[in-house]
Amino acid sequence: MAVPFRRTSKTRKRLRRTHFKLQVPGMVECPNCGDMKLSHRVCKACGTYKGKEVVEK
Ligand SMILES: [Zn+2]
Repeated sequence: MAVPFRRTSKTRKRLRRTHFKLQVPGMVECPNCGDMKLSHRVCKACGTYKGKEVVEK
């Protein structure tokens, strides 16, 4: 098994972790109800997509 030649420095470790964010991107505000929803998906709260298309109730 390969083993690291050098110990990873604090800076290296932190730099690597700047890429991992807690929040999932792609959240936008629903134009209908103002709730947060995933973009390009039907709003969970009010069931609309692209203006007025009511998909489910
Ligand atoms: Zn909505």
